[in-house]
Amino acid sequence: MDQNRYIDTRGHTKNPIPFTHAVVQGLADGGGLFVPERIPHLSIDELVALADLPYARRAAAVYKAFRTDLDDTEVDRLMEAAYGTNFDDSRICPLTSIDDSFFILELWHGPTSAFKDMALQCLPLFFAASASHLRDEGVIDHEHLILVATSGDTGKAALEGFANKDGVSICVIYPDGGVSDIQRKQMATQQGGNVCVWAVRGNFDDCQTSAKAIFSDEAFAQELLADRKIALSSANSINWGRLLPQVVYYASAYADLAASGQIEAGAPIDVCVPTGNFGNILAAYYAKQMGAPIERLLCASNENRVLADFINTGTYDISDRDFVLTPSPSMDILVSSNLERQLFELTGRDATKIVQWMKDLSGEKRFRVDPDTFAALRSTFAADSVSNAECLETIRSVFEAHQYLLDPHTAVAFEVAERLRGDNPMVVASTAHWAKFGNNVYRALHGIGPNQPLPDQTESLTGCQLNALIEQETGAGPIPSGLTGLDDKLLRFDEVIDSGKDCIEDAVRAFLS
Ligand SMILES: *Cc1c(COP(=O)(O)O)cnc(C)c1O
Repeated sequence: MDQNRYIDTRGHTKNPIPFTHAVVQGLADGGGLFVPERIPHLSIDELVALADLPYARRAAAVYKAFRTDLDDTEVDRLMEAAYGTNFDDSRICPLTSIDDSFFILELWHGPTSAFKDMALQCLPLFFAASASHLRDEGVIDHEHLILVATSGDTGKAALEGFANKDGVSICVIYPDGGVSDIQRKQMATQQGGNVCVWAVRGNFDDCQTSAKAIFSDEAFAQELLADRKIALSSANSINWGRLLPQVVYYASAYADLAASGQIEAGAPIDVCVPTGNFGNILAAYYAKQMGAPIERLLCASNENRVLADFINTGTYDISDRDFVLTPSPSMDILVSSNLERQLFELTGRDATKIVQWMKDLSGEKRFRVDPDTFAALRSTFAADSVSNAECLETIRSVFEAHQYLLDPHTAVAFEVAERLRGDNPMVVASTAHWAKFGNNVYRALHGIGPNQPLPDQTESLTGCQLNALIEQETGAGPIPSGLTGLDDKLLRFDEVIDSGKDCIEDAVRAFLS
């Protein structure tokens, strides 16, 4: 069978492009997102047979099914490098059972302890390899600079993934004072000669707006290309190369459950995902399209419940919605970019509808899907949202009942999974180790509200010290090595810069020279 090529959700890609081009380009011309022309299908036997392989080879098998333009031995080699001893569990993403039909898929065993590693230990390798092929073929003659605006988890995972990769460097901006002590130190201590991190005066929205302005600054792009032979690129979850690695773990989890006899091969399961940008749950949808017997996809929202409301009403509306700060900051989002791919699939790949809805969203700040699309959505998805107080209460009650400590993002999904649980076995995607968010975990365990101060004796502790205290109190150790000892490491990056395109562009110029 021939190679799979990529079209985009807004119908601008008239000549579909190969995988390597889609990965390096990131976003399609016209603002659409790349999707493969064909979604491959695995039989139940093929799916369950994945359980016989180490994780890297499971990932390679899924990539090969998607028929990329890379040859099989290269895919094998890159996957071995992506999923090896950089993870602290040889199974890479093990399942834990809460009872005989309720499972937690632990996606945080990578170097930065958030599920972003599942994709960002993989994408940079495929990005560097793809760009190198394009240079060899004479398609491009430049290198790349990845610019990332982060509210915490993505920044560190991208730094760790791109550090010391050939032909690419990475700059990360985060809101000064807007990330946790642990997250800030994780980024500020990053090793590697091709990395740089700045704190920006402002909130996450200011960072993101500045990054978008830089990406659309033609003059800056021309300058970088002409003076330094560098093109800007992005590593956020609109890149297909970040989505595909996430499809793997849903197929892999199903295989593990069936092979171990915890479910019958072919029996349906439900999956519940703590959702922000809709990347993780979309990957579960693609795993379902590939043949994994996933019946329902449960979308769990925090108090920023725009997605849960959309799934329940068919109207996506941010015209009268405030951005709320929650204990699960990686899900604090109003515009969920990967929803565009989901809508494209649910409409039977109707780019005309997507263009209209995205226009409505940017103009009127809302769009409403047609009855057929809404019916398609409802046939697969269900959704609910969890308040800040309920989130912390879930962490406490789950620890009491099961001696298992959840991070606040996973707690949101755990609670929604319990509310919406039906007859099928349930898999909850666990997206971060609790110690990334120790402050809120401590609150949860001690009944301190989301906005109340911590007691005097803990208020002055660093993130690492507070985690050590939680570990002592709960026995929920060991804390991953990447999250301990941060207080003793050299802070390489402590510069705070003004927000706004011009200041950040100046900082990028200074970094490059
Ligand atoms: C990024 C993130 C999410 C949200 O994932 P999406 O793919 O954006 O929906 C949830 N939990 C954690 C811990 C994250 O870092």
